[in-house]
Amino acid sequence: MSGDPIYTEMIIEYSRNPSNFGKIENPQIHRHDSNPLCGDSIDLYVNIDDSKITEVKFDGKGCAICMACTSVLTEMIQGKNLDDVKNFQKDELLAELGLEHLIKTSPVRIKCALLSLKALKYGIYSYFAEKMNDVEAAGNLKEEAASLY
Ligand SMILES: [Zn+2]
Repeated sequence: MSGDPIYTEMIIEYSRNPSNFGKIENPQIHRHDSNPLCGDSIDLYVNIDDSKITEVKFDGKGCAICMACTSVLTEMIQGKNLDDVKNFQKDELLAELGLEHLIKTSPVRIKCALLSLKALKYGIYSYFAEKMNDVEAAGNLKEEAASLY
């Protein structure tokens, strides 16, 4: 991997020691998503209380970029209000790891980077639309998720 500017120390470190790695039993949101081109496959678990994300974990396997981005995403949304999380933009996530350039340079790698965000947006959509029966609150999260990459 040395020589490839994508793999910063931070990304390698996260891929070795991912944050919030594990499973939540009976979570309010559970979303599986995968990236067949790369082999990334993750499950995202989220618990919500009083419109706040109280607990978030993920498990599965993925490349260094996928593991790092998913780790950072779980750190960034922990304890946040759902409204803030709904508006969370991919640029914020990519910037945290210095990966903004991927949007232009690597259509394959961008999927690795944004897989967890896609899972999160679909997951929150399902939570509102199916569990709370509130399609309005779910908003356009589904479209957003579908258009992430
Ligand atoms: Zn990947």
